[in-house]
Amino acid sequence: MGITIASLVTPAGTPPSEANMRLLFSVLCANVPDLDIFIMIPMHKDHRIYSFFHYPLFWLLILPGIIYILSQLHFPIEYAVMLIAGITSHFFMDMLDSTGKIMLLAPFKNTQYSFLKNVQQYHSFSEFISLYKTKAFKYEASITTVCLSIIAAARRF
Ligand SMILES: [Zn+2]
Repeated sequence: MGITIASLVTPAGTPPSEANMRLLFSVLCANVPDLDIFIMIPMHKDHRIYSFFHYPLFWLLILPGIIYILSQLHFPIEYAVMLIAGITSHFFMDMLDSTGKIMLLAPFKNTQYSFLKNVQQYHSFSEFISLYKTKAFKYEASITTVCLSIIAAARRF
């Protein structure tokens, strides 16, 4: 998603150094809510549940501050667009994951949301692998394929 977003906000003729900077920034933004895994995995905790860094409301709270700082540092408006689009698409794509655990309203409500009704839970690696044989995974693969096709088609225009 980060690469797609960067390509949408980088017009033809942009100097290569600026284009690379936007690409790097956009990829970082699209993945930033998952950076807490480097802390949570050694603690053997699921970062989607136990880390505020993966709560959408946390990002909603701090985004205006980050955007204000970017504007004070004279970053072009496209950087704010990449930040908002990257983080929003991250949570959207996570909700296409059949393992769920996206707590949209945490810390106020711990309900886990997914676009797939049949949210799968797993407790071991073998259970995780067995998810690939389930109906939910087939839905997930289908939805992801459709979304990627839409993105690929949109990039042609
Ligand atoms: Zn995530």
